[in-house]
Amino acid sequence: MFSQLGEADCLLCGRRCTTMETSTMSAQTTVRELICDGCGLGASPEHIAKRLRRLELTTRYRPIHIQAVFLGPQSPADDKDFLYSIETPRGGEGAALLRALGIQTDGRDAEAVPAEFQKRGFLLTHVLECAAEPGGTSADLTRALRQRLPAVARRLRGSLRPKRIVLISKDLAAVVEELKKSQLGGELMLNDGRPFDLGDLDSVTKLTSMARGL
Ligand SMILES: [Zn+2]
Repeated sequence: MFSQLGEADCLLCGRRCTTMETSTMSAQTTVRELICDGCGLGASPEHIAKRLRRLELTTRYRPIHIQAVFLGPQSPADDKDFLYSIETPRGGEGAALLRALGIQTDGRDAEAVPAEFQKRGFLLTHVLECAAEPGGTSADLTRALRQRLPAVARRLRGSLRPKRIVLISKDLAAVVEELKKSQLGGELMLNDGRPFDLGDLDSVTKLTSMARGL
């Protein structure tokens, strides 16, 4: 049985939402568990705090009109790999995506890099907007991705409304058929029917030439 917390509004969206739902486990014992609206999993206060921080950084560079959403499977574990990190990403997904899009990072002010990404009408987001908890497996990831897809599709078509959605990881191959069938509110951009893959040189070359036309 689910019930809403008294008068409290959600810290994330200012309204009542699943983050603030409580789960009543039995008549005797009430276990209050925060459900993170970024990944759909039960969450500790530390998890929610990290989620809020990344949301704040992403929102700062969200274009008004989005040309393309670059969609990854899961937010990187390391802040240094996160594109909207307060420091220019030097590795991982963030750096690989910037390189693929020809956005220079060397010698530039840290804020100039995500600002250029924003100016081109780009937004990076993830099916799971929080990093993996330690000990997860690829089967867990696929299951979690699948569970989140309806919420992601709603967010894309209802809120972000991008012209295009570009899949950037082979980890999304497990859910690509569902994504093709979902109403995403924009054109799904694929590489021969598969997601682009920032870890594959040939795929990155194709992503670079596709992105030039955006
Ligand atoms: Zn989360």
